[in-house]
Amino acid sequence: MQINISNIPEEGLSLRFSKSKEWSHQFLPTGDKSGFRVQNIEVSCFVEKVLKSVSIKGKIKAGIKLECCRCLEEFNFPAEIEFKYVLTPVDDLKKDDLELTYKDLEYNYYEGDVIDLGQIMVEQIVLQIPIKPLCSDSCKGLCPVCGVNLNIEKCDHKAQQIGSSFAALKNFKANKER
Ligand SMILES: [Zn+2]
Ligand SMILES: [Zn+2]
Repeated sequence: MQINISNIPEEGLSLRFSKSKEWSHQFLPTGDKSGFRVQNIEVSCFVEKVLKSVSIKGKIKAGIKLECCRCLEEFNFPAEIEFKYVLTPVDDLKKDDLELTYKDLEYNYYEGDVIDLGQIMVEQIVLQIPIKPLCSDSCKGLCPVCGVNLNIEKCDHKAQQIGSSFAALKNFKANKER
């Protein structure tokens, strides 16, 4: 998804498009982050030339499937992202500044006459992925002993576990007091 800067009219350009999961997979290799799959992407944005820079603002709607870090079940994570970029031609930046702009996500640069919208969308989507995805705040996770999904099944290990950690705490205190 590329925009040729010379094709952007004076009054700006409204774009609306959607991408399939096949498209997103070429940018977002599976296994990049554990259990994260992008389903479909819808983008609407407005592209405008401001002096030599190009401003892009818009919205991305993405259906993402994530793996819960507690129960390991896959769940839907709908993301709605508003973004705004101001892209400056790379020639106008000194080399020292270039590193700074890399870090500043709201401010970027372009090279030549072409802007790659795909790159922008990928960046925005990756930023939305939580480091520890949870299917729900109250997810009970897996039993560390028998591995059943405690959201669905029950097992006897929970009581034992609490018992043993209390015992461990008791021993710890006893050792300290000695
Ligand atoms: Zn879960
Ligand atoms: Zn168990």
